[in-house]
Amino acid sequence: MKDLAVHIKSFGCQMNKLDTALIASALQAAGFRLTDDVKEADAVLINTCSVREHAEERVYSHLGHLKHLKQYRPDLIVGVIGCMAQRLGDKLLEHEAVNIVCGPAQIPQIADLLREALVRAPKRAVVTDNIRQGGQDSNAALEEFESTYSAGEMPGQAFVRVMRGCNRFCTYCIVPYVRGPEACRPPEAIRQQVKRLADGGTRQVTLLGQTVNSYKYQSGNRTWCLADLLDMVGQVPGIEWVRFVTSYPYDEFYEHILGAMANSAKICHYLHMPAQSGSDRVLRAMNRHYTAGRYLELIERARAVVPDIAVAGDFIVGFPGETQEDFEATADLVRKARYKNSYIFKYSPRPGTAAQKRLADTVPADIKQQRNVELLAVQDRVSAELNQAFVSQQVVVLVEGPSKRQMRSDECETPSRALQNVEGRPAISPSKVQLVGRTSTDHIVVFDGSPSLAGSFVRVRITQASPLTLFGDLQP
Ligand code: SAM
Ligand code: SF4
Repeated sequence: MKDLAVHIKSFGCQMNKLDTALIASALQAAGFRLTDDVKEADAVLINTCSVREHAEERVYSHLGHLKHLKQYRPDLIVGVIGCMAQRLGDKLLEHEAVNIVCGPAQIPQIADLLREALVRAPKRAVVTDNIRQGGQDSNAALEEFESTYSAGEMPGQAFVRVMRGCNRFCTYCIVPYVRGPEACRPPEAIRQQVKRLADGGTRQVTLLGQTVNSYKYQSGNRTWCLADLLDMVGQVPGIEWVRFVTSYPYDEFYEHILGAMANSAKICHYLHMPAQSGSDRVLRAMNRHYTAGRYLELIERARAVVPDIAVAGDFIVGFPGETQEDFEATADLVRKARYKNSYIFKYSPRPGTAAQKRLADTVPADIKQQRNVELLAVQDRVSAELNQAFVSQQVVVLVEGPSKRQMRSDECETPSRALQNVEGRPAISPSKVQLVGRTSTDHIVVFDGSPSLAGSFVRVRITQASPLTLFGDLQP
């Protein structure tokens, strides 16, 4: 086979990024070459997100560019993978640019689909007809794919999915419809995967699941929960830090997880636990099974067991029927919860969800925007105050690499503005660059150092703090 080059573009959340990394690794193993340059690619794959309409609009805009490119490069193969592929299926083939549509359950077939398309350039869609009915076969194929092609994404760091899908059906959310029912992976498969990653140099593993704290796996007469997984992963030689996202605010296993965090130096003191709203009325309409008061109690319990725990939240503003009073309850929750940071999203009706079918999108766009800005400002004040306490402290940082001006990495986890970078700071010598890394509490730290430090742990003394970033000096 000629050296065929594939360009992969990824939209969406950490789950999608993980899928992209797995696909990239599978394609390389199948003899394809990956390229960052669309112009030299024989095929372009777009891994898509459907969580908000805006994410889908960005995919269409990208497909528009590719359609233009195909006027000069008619042989170029374009594949759409992931949640949008699952949601729209054959309809996506109507787009002039698209050759392949591949649902999330079919990604193990991607190398074959590409080969077939490159030889015959057909249009072909492979998606699961009724994804909620799941199926042993597709789970087995995904399990094999996942354990064969695990891939680190940043130096020293890797993501490992511990469960797929979701059964919660929050009324606004499309995930259960495009990712299918919840399925937890066997602990032994996870352990082996982490061991391989650690042997390859991974030092931090992040366990992923839509409601990762509800992980449950029956093996013989033992029921495994997330706390057991955290312990197990922390014991893999070479692994220094273990994190997990995202947690649903509920009781089961909570004390076990907090206990594991308190008792192991390897489990990061970080909890990403979306509240979505501070109004009990809105929470009910969202089908979230807690009240704001109950949610705050969970945070209090976490702080009692792990005093330096950093908590991050997600919020949706402008949910159908959200009044000014509801919004104020949300702002109040943000003040009381004292989040490290919050990811704030404007409600976006998603086709087929209960909210889209039953509730009118009543909050006007300008009010959603205004509430988004206001809530960010509330969060900024909390973050600025919390971050100030780091000034003059030394922290341990896992270095990600040179910092670049960037948006928060994806759609699902995007605060509504760019990461503040280091404007106004003095130029540095070329042997040193500006590096970015994170503490075990997920605080972003920027400092000057050698690019060769990427993937290692360093000590940094914090000298300045902004709401989103800590700045400091590398310590010997
Ligand atoms: N499973 C995670 C949980 O329950 O917390 C979150 C998964 S979702 C992919 C990431 C975030 O997107 C959610 O926490 C929510 O804030 C936001 N989101 C989901 N559906 C949305 C919608 N229709 N409009 C706006 N934001 C949405
Ligand atoms: Fe979506 Fe998370 Fe709710 Fe599942 S728990 S439906 S992924 S918001």
